[in-house]
Amino acid sequence: MSNCAVVGVNWGDEGKGRMVDFLTEDHDIVIRFQGGGNAGHTVVNSKGKFALHLLPSGVLREGIVNILGNGVALDPENLLIEIKEVQSKGVVISPNNLKISERASLLMPWHRELDELEEKRLADKKYGSTKQGIAAFYSDKYQKKTILAGELLYPEYLQAHLKDLLEWKNLTLSGVYGARPYTMEMLMEWVGNYCQPIIPYICDTVSYLKEAQEEGKRILFEAQLGALRDLDYGICPYTTSSTTLARYAPVGAGAPSADISEIIGVVKAYSTCVGEGPFVCEMHGTDAETLRNTGAEYGAKTGRPRRVGPLDLVATRYGAAMQNATGIAVTKLDILGYMDSIPVCTKYIVNGKETDKFPFPAALDKAEPVIEWMPGWKTDVSGVRSWDDLPKEAQDYINMIERVVGIPVKYISVGAERDSIIIR
Ligand code: GDP
Repeated sequence: MSNCAVVGVNWGDEGKGRMVDFLTEDHDIVIRFQGGGNAGHTVVNSKGKFALHLLPSGVLREGIVNILGNGVALDPENLLIEIKEVQSKGVVISPNNLKISERASLLMPWHRELDELEEKRLADKKYGSTKQGIAAFYSDKYQKKTILAGELLYPEYLQAHLKDLLEWKNLTLSGVYGARPYTMEMLMEWVGNYCQPIIPYICDTVSYLKEAQEEGKRILFEAQLGALRDLDYGICPYTTSSTTLARYAPVGAGAPSADISEIIGVVKAYSTCVGEGPFVCEMHGTDAETLRNTGAEYGAKTGRPRRVGPLDLVATRYGAAMQNATGIAVTKLDILGYMDSIPVCTKYIVNGKETDKFPFPAALDKAEPVIEWMPGWKTDVSGVRSWDDLPKEAQDYINMIERVVGIPVKYISVGAERDSIIIR
């Protein structure tokens, strides 16, 4: 396998971290190319259970170089906490295996604060932000009002730049929201406490990746969230503020010339969604409760219960197409083992008409799911490691996904652990 992207097809939490952890075996470099510490990639392997937020999932495998690309929201405060937490479990993290792009923009302390203030202002119309400052960060990035990580190496330049930003940001903080303004002392304290310690990791990752490509090193691009949360193609305005699509990966990673030969779109065997917004196939009541508990569907970052529903083929086909996936990884197939028959959303009803086309966001609120039922396999498949050993009903379920989505299912995950997987 040469360069590969592991991306989400749905609303996020599909199990991308788990797939990255498995696929790193065939790669040399793992790069996070978008998003921030609002992710929650849970990875289980021989070293233990890890909830990774900003760190690429490749840090858990020795010999892998991990990069935080220019496209991420680099939150030094949370990154430091995460590095320490992972190190405390015996994982080595040093500038040899973690590199931060000098072109990554810094998530400033006021971004988190602005996120909170805006969600409060929105009250019952809130978007369900994780309050990690991601939207405020990306807005500022596109206004060119952030600090690049590399500026930490130029103290005089940094001071002057911070002073300009401070003046500008205080207009919004105190003028719009009536919040406490920041001072230069506060910012310098933040730089000292949280930015100085990450300086050893900051380097010119673009040159590093150019050389790595010339040497034939294999890159794995790790995405956060899924296609339905993509800023341009997702369920606007309930998207994230970055581009979650594989096509953006080389740009956000710092390797704009890199080709991606394999795009693995990760699809959970049923649907989950965190936060607000339309979720057409949502289940409620005891059926939802059972699925949520069986699948342990509680957010890794926030602990929030995830909304659950049957596999949504309308959304999945759309998401896989937006990702231009060359292969699908279906995760959590083992969770469905308790069901007598398995609901699947095959179409939507929009304006009284059945459709298999994923609608424009404004039409999603009124869309209704058409549910069909497939026979369950009523067995624990978590120990199965080959396609032939899967019960026929489970094979039928996978074949059905492949047929409807029109992309081969290459991996079937039947457990959270690294080797709990069927390769097809
Ligand atoms: P990500 O953000 O896409 O990496 O996904 P999350 O980590 O938020 O959610 C996936 C959850 O499912 C994690 O807790 C994983 O450990 C777990 N998981 C992944 N694949 C499987 C699987 O095949 N079976 C089971 N039972 N759990 C899985």
